[in-house]
Amino acid sequence: MRSARFLGEGRITIVETEAPVPGPDEVIVDVAACALCGSDFRPLRQGWPLTPGHEIFGHVRAPGTGEHGKRVLVYIPTFCGHCTQCEAGRTNLCPHAELLGWQRPGGYAQSLAVPRRCLLAVPDDIPDRLAPLLLDVIGTTAHGIRLAERIVQPGAALVIGAGPIGLGSLLVLQALNWGPVFVCEPNPKRAAFAASLNATVLSAEQAEARQFPLVIEASGKDAGRALALTAVAQEGAAVQLGESDQWSITETRALRRKDYFLIRSFYFPLHEYAANIELLRANMAQFAKLVDATADLDGLETLFAEFARGERLKPLLCPV
Ligand SMILES: [Zn+2]
Ligand SMILES: [Zn+2]
Repeated sequence: MRSARFLGEGRITIVETEAPVPGPDEVIVDVAACALCGSDFRPLRQGWPLTPGHEIFGHVRAPGTGEHGKRVLVYIPTFCGHCTQCEAGRTNLCPHAELLGWQRPGGYAQSLAVPRRCLLAVPDDIPDRLAPLLLDVIGTTAHGIRLAERIVQPGAALVIGAGPIGLGSLLVLQALNWGPVFVCEPNPKRAAFAASLNATVLSAEQAEARQFPLVIEASGKDAGRALALTAVAQEGAAVQLGESDQWSITETRALRRKDYFLIRSFYFPLHEYAANIELLRANMAQFAKLVDATADLDGLETLFAEFARGERLKPLLCPV
């Protein structure tokens, strides 16, 4: 079968690999779509020893069984199911998990082996091309916002960065009755897109001059993080989502004399999946606008280059 390899410096090659062999209680999933993610840029730059790709939608291949052909998403952490975190429902935080597409082969390939417990059934009314949004774009952002809702009530919110996680946050906030939602994004195309989704676009200076009970930081940059801590209101919540570079923030007098909650979230627990499907259903036409390009394996390198230049919002690899 054909699989992608990241060679470093943005180069991708397609190699012929052995067909995946399912281990105990694993199945083969034929990949129909795997969404590109900002977190892929680091392995793309460095090179990666195995097949990356972690926002995977496909079909179970198990001829002759009732599972064959089932439409599924793949939950990234191969959680153990019986540790303290898993028993508390925090499958996203299982310390024994490997991550599909990171520590074991992922979805930039025609197929992969997946533990059965990582299969998420996709309802018939969710189109193939939108299904991957239920993972990082909706799952991760909704979990971060739910954590914040332990502290702050729905109201005005600021989203910093209008990449896939920032735009996902915007649409999830709207579906959860937050508003007005403001967005800070230097790329004019992405800012205009956020405005088309009913966000009010602010410059960094304008955002700094106001205070928001909730700030979502999805830029992955120190400037964005510094802005988040400046713009979060007293006793408000600043939520940091997505991949980021090394943190280095200077403490200012304004930060020193402030009480605020800083929330970091990485991925969502399995039990939130059903509620996340409802968020997608509530705002399906808007979410559909995020998926703006597809390519097959041979077009993956070009698609990544376009994504890196900010020309694509949430592109998909469709291997066959
Ligand atoms: Zn991702
Ligand atoms: Zn566990």
